[in-house]
Amino acid sequence: MSSLPFGLAGIMGWPVAHSRSPAIHNHWIRKYGLNGAYVQLPVAPGKLALAVPGLAALGFRGCNITIPHKVDAMQLVDEVDIMAKRMGAMNTIVVQPDGSLKGFNNDGFGYIQSLIDAQPDWRADAGPITVLGAGGAARAVVLSLADRGAKEIRLLNRTFDKAEALANEFGVPVKALPWEERHAALADVALLVNTTSQGMHGQPDLDLNLDALPKHALVSDVIYVPLETPLLAAARKRGNPTVNGLGMLLNQARPAFHAWFGVMPEITEELKQALIATF
Ligand code: NAP
Repeated sequence: MSSLPFGLAGIMGWPVAHSRSPAIHNHWIRKYGLNGAYVQLPVAPGKLALAVPGLAALGFRGCNITIPHKVDAMQLVDEVDIMAKRMGAMNTIVVQPDGSLKGFNNDGFGYIQSLIDAQPDWRADAGPITVLGAGGAARAVVLSLADRGAKEIRLLNRTFDKAEALANEFGVPVKALPWEERHAALADVALLVNTTSQGMHGQPDLDLNLDALPKHALVSDVIYVPLETPLLAAARKRGNPTVNGLGMLLNQARPAFHAWFGVMPEITEELKQALIATF
């Protein structure tokens, strides 16, 4: 056991038992020889306003925030980082040296970094991008792609109004298209992203015809269970490069760990395998 001061962090949500974040952060705590722990904080809906202000008093360095608290938590911290404000949701709280609370959202950072890890010369402006879905994950993906210089983002969602609302909010380069046009919207794209829940373990496959997709286009799925969704398997079989959702999950955790424990942790094959073993 290290003689460093004890560091405590955790994940606040309801439910939290399924979360992989404890496995990730506790792996890094052990790997870097730190004295600390990352724990589950099951906070029922309606109890968030009691739980969040208690973080500093309980000695926490901060916590992750997950479903269903990502939006409501924004009202309970002293300051919200600009990226989290623009995403309209928070996934991390950092207790500041003066005990005040600051909220962040690292999902967009995690997503972009996962693409760069897979293709170091990846560029957002390499060509049109098609994003399927307009939920929480889509907000992070679309906003971060736009910030990285994407020139055209075609956004398609089963419920068109949600895609349109997101396009109106984020402005150029995001353009909402009807869900029925998703097959044709693959023409000329450099990147296709699935942010819907379709293809996730226990869910039906995504209904998408890849015929119009250029063979060089990068195909990314934010789902990580299974690691290779039917979409990624179909893309790989026709020769497209693919990126699964594990990199996004792992990379979004890195800046939070750094803020809490002072070490920017590495994503190793050992960590990936340890995590995959929990699936
Ligand atoms: P969400 O906010 O509930 O959004 C779900 C999305 O899926 C919506 O766009 C929804 O469309 C669409 N959808 C649901 N059923 C559909 C169907 N039958 N046909 C077509 N579209 C359908 O969920 P989320 O938080 O964005 O999460 C989405 C996925 O991303 C999940 O699998 C989650 O595990 C994954 N995720 C991964 C990471 C990571 O770190 N890798 C991070 C966050 C999320 P409607 O608007 O029409 O309902």
